Amino acid sequence: MAVNYICRHCSMPLGSFENADVPEYRLGLHFLTPEERKRIIAYNSNGDVTVRVICDYCSQTLDANPELALLSNPLQ
Ligand SMILES: [Zn+2]
Repeated sequence: MAVNYICRHCSMPLGSFENADVPEYRLGLHFLTPEERKRIIAYNSNGDVTVRVICDYCSQTLDANPELALLSNPLQ
């Protein structure tokens, strides 16, 4: 099982742990609420985990244009 990080906005791969023997606190996931976990973490049928985060580029873009967050996250 692997843990893959992608940008939730542009889907750019941001890194991955091949051996997901990594405790959740190492992944920075332990502070998430159950609601956030549902939104951010996706468990794939092959056992891999996809974590949707925000890349530097999108983070900067959103900082400069906060209204874009509403457009890119219609479900939130
Ligand atoms: Zn991005």
